[in-house]
Amino acid sequence: MNKTLKQLHEELKSGSLTIEALVESCRKTISEKDGDIHALLGIYSEELINSQISRAKEMFANGKATTLTGIPIVLKDNILVKGEHATGGSKILENYIATYDATVVKKLKEAGTILIGRANMDEFAMGTSTENSAYGVTKNPNDITRVAGGSSGGSAAVVAYGGVPMALGSDTGGSIRGPAAFCGVVGLKTTYGNVSRSGVMSMGSSLDQIGPFGNSVSDVEEVYNIISGYDVKDSTSIPEELRDKKQEGSNKKVIGVPWNFVDRKGIDADVLVNFKAGIEKMKSAGYTIKDVSFKHLEKALAVYYIIAPAEVSSNQARYDGIRYGLSLPGDTSIQSYFESRTAGFGAEVRRRILIGTYVLSSGYYDAYYNKANLVRGLLQKEFEEVFKDADVIAMPTTPSPAFKIGEKINDPLLMYLEDIFTVPVNIVGVPAISIPSGKTESGLPLGMQFIAPNMREDMLFTIGKDFEKLI
Ligand code: GLN
Repeated sequence: MNKTLKQLHEELKSGSLTIEALVESCRKTISEKDGDIHALLGIYSEELINSQISRAKEMFANGKATTLTGIPIVLKDNILVKGEHATGGSKILENYIATYDATVVKKLKEAGTILIGRANMDEFAMGTSTENSAYGVTKNPNDITRVAGGSSGGSAAVVAYGGVPMALGSDTGGSIRGPAAFCGVVGLKTTYGNVSRSGVMSMGSSLDQIGPFGNSVSDVEEVYNIISGYDVKDSTSIPEELRDKKQEGSNKKVIGVPWNFVDRKGIDADVLVNFKAGIEKMKSAGYTIKDVSFKHLEKALAVYYIIAPAEVSSNQARYDGIRYGLSLPGDTSIQSYFESRTAGFGAEVRRRILIGTYVLSSGYYDAYYNKANLVRGLLQKEFEEVFKDADVIAMPTTPSPAFKIGEKINDPLLMYLEDIFTVPVNIVGVPAISIPSGKTESGLPLGMQFIAPNMREDMLFTIGKDFEKLI
């Protein structure tokens, strides 16, 4: 799929392309390619797809079409669509049918998109490779012996192989940006509180955000424009009056690079070379590159792997074998609880629940959880300081290109280290984008990550479009 959303929109508007033909061609590509890649867990019901097609046609007929009207989209399987399956990549929700639409789904339906199917993901978004899905791994379309990244691996892969031009994912510690980098597409993690999470399965509630995947920065911007906005149903949603519409200056030109943090032991040589080349190109294009330093950035990963599991352990409590999802019998309700959770949760989810329960337990709460929160506060202050000197911060998205399936699955620490450049963003709450920055010699995509201050997605789009032209 190499047409932009705007081009597709023009073709749909002029009638040179019909919505049915577009949907059909997406479905054909999916049926040809998904057998190998396994990006999707399911296609939505014909009833939903057809009703969206009718709605989109009406919108064109009434002159009410948006840029996204009639365009197929795939959703990560932790996003609820009324009447449709949503598994969160977990066995515990294998037969769960959503009872309401997520706010992002409502917005996409109103905009006239065609919701096509559900994307594979690490179980409840815990992972970096989609190998933690209860339904099998998603393979990287650039090399099927390698992972597509995670946890939104399915969303990235389906866009990368051309099954749909846009998809949604969620990003708690890098789950949009990582897979975007590994698969060679654009992925945006939005400002915390920008896009409503109502109807999205929670992982780490102080970290989770929803965001789009696309083939270009402008495509991602189009989807962002539809899904962002205040929502009364999400208590962390940023109120309208705090969303400054008049953002100053598109002439922002200073890129801060934390060289000490980036040029580190463990970073893949190809990634470093590619990153430096990308920064040089921005310099030649007139950007000022500034070395910026952080005192506490090194600690972000440790902070994340305390705060995220803590929030996971509390969020996962809802899967109790009683309210919904898998329910196995037991002599007592506590026994049924244990049976259901043991059979329903995979190893990584259980690991996180154990770590999270531990760091929240009395006696350890101060030593771990409180301390992590303190460092979080320091990091937030540091980012504010650095943003006084730089308009955006640049880092590679991942420390390595897509790794082999199976390579890291038995070493959680090695896997967690893949998130080194992405988790600080979630700890602080700011927006960040991953943009394809070229390929390794063996043809594996790499990603450049730009990070902006809160609610400055507009800067990511402006700078991102400049970057895209140079690659
Ligand atoms: N890879 C990170 C983790 O395993 C991030 C996951 C995410 O962003 N959902 O927690």
